[in-house]
Amino acid sequence: MRRVLILGGTAEARALAAELAARPATHVVSSLAGRVSNPRLPVGEVREGGFGGPGGLAAFLAEERIDALVDATHPFAERMTASAAAASSATGVPLLVLRRPGWQEGDGDAWHRVGSLHAAAALLTTGLRVFLTTGRRSLPIFAGLPGVWLLARSVDPPEPPVPPHVHVLLDRGPYTVEGERALIREHRLNILVTKDSGGQLTAAKLTAARELGLPVIMVNRPPLPPGVRLVDTVAAATEWAAAQG
Ligand code: NAP
Repeated sequence: MRRVLILGGTAEARALAAELAARPATHVVSSLAGRVSNPRLPVGEVREGGFGGPGGLAAFLAEERIDALVDATHPFAERMTASAAAASSATGVPLLVLRRPGWQEGDGDAWHRVGSLHAAAALLTTGLRVFLTTGRRSLPIFAGLPGVWLLARSVDPPEPPVPPHVHVLLDRGPYTVEGERALIREHRLNILVTKDSGGQLTAAKLTAARELGLPVIMVNRPPLPPGVRLVDTVAAATEWAAAQG
């Protein structure tokens, strides 16, 4: 029996779990951070919660006799990705990183790419009404900017207190272009700040921003650890994992 551990929390990780579970002689364990309430669960065995750093993950790989590790976490889950690379090096368990492709600027887009959330915040000036989709834990970086009004959309609520110039909208994709357009108009938003997460489920905001002439501040992905093997499709990850062990 081949045993595959998928580090998840993404639609791609769920799709990969479903693909691998259908393969003969393959046992799949999916791992979730356990921070989102009511997460979408993959098929098969699921464990939740951190491992306790690279050492804890290395111990888990040995105890559970894992043959192959797929890091299918979100492109901005930087610590988990670093931990997976370190645990793979320490144990010799082969690692593959599955990342959906990033978004690409097209005709009619007005994007400004930056290297960090702080760099994005530094570009926001008084009078802006910001559509902020960078996640609830990033809110403190943006909430203190003078004269900047925020519509902060996230899956779970941010830590209180939320200042009065921040309107929190709890929602989870997929989103439609019509819905995003209506939201931008309703709240008279004039700039979008987002991370380069990629994927179709949350891309409608980019189309709506283009149509309504909103500039976009796009936070680039953090770099991958050096030397890791990377694929960008579930099919490629399935083939790789099915050939291990
Ligand atoms: P992170 O900053 O890289 O991870 C922080 C710590 O959380 C890790 O060191 C690890 O704890 C634990 N952890 C993260 N992902 C885990 C997983 N799949 N299984 C078990 N433990 C995990 O990650 P994050 O940005 O907080 O993301 C957490 C989860 O949400 C990930 O599964 C990610 O795929 C998903 N997600 C993230 C974003 C985002 O924008 N960052 C968006 C959508 C979904 P230990 O060190 O104790 O092992």
